[in-house]
Amino acid sequence: MKIGVLALQGAFAEHQAVLEGLGAEVVQVRLPKDLEGLSGLILPGGESTTIGKLAVAFNLLEPLRAFGQQHALWGTCAGAIFLSKDVHRPQPLLGLMDIQVARNAFGRQVDSFEVDLNVPELGEPPFHAVFIRAPLIESVSGSARVMATLPDGRIVAAQQGRWLATSFHPELTRDDRFHRFFMELAQ
Ligand code: GLN
Repeated sequence: MKIGVLALQGAFAEHQAVLEGLGAEVVQVRLPKDLEGLSGLILPGGESTTIGKLAVAFNLLEPLRAFGQQHALWGTCAGAIFLSKDVHRPQPLLGLMDIQVARNAFGRQVDSFEVDLNVPELGEPPFHAVFIRAPLIESVSGSARVMATLPDGRIVAAQQGRWLATSFHPELTRDDRFHRFFMELAQ
């Protein structure tokens, strides 16, 4: 299976390593033609304004939207912001997924934290999630549904058909269950 990783900025190499460990062929996507023949695409964490501006500069916004209409997409952290329809401020977005996102929602003192999440789709044990200046998924609408919440109920993972959004960084842990789940969606 051929999976793309948007390689404009951010943690794309880490996703690539996990996918290759699972036997996928990985393509770093920087140009529209890189999307040809891919079964799915990961939008990595990083800085969503930078990723958005680079996507505009590289004429990637429309090709990425068209690809996403037909294929699996997974946005982690900044990638989840980029995938969403609403982030309360003007910045270039794919605007595909029916989630409303608040950037940097966890405040300065707790910029980064780790927590075990119960994710029913992944079964046991809980998924150890790493949050780095993470966004919060404030709400889901349309056909999007909640996939995981913090113990206090705040949403940190959502799914809408073949689209996934996670506030955290599964590519930074040894647990590859989210990547496996995504590869199944991409099949
Ligand atoms: N704070 C970043 C943003 O708003 C996201 C951080 C990350 O991807 N780790 O784009």
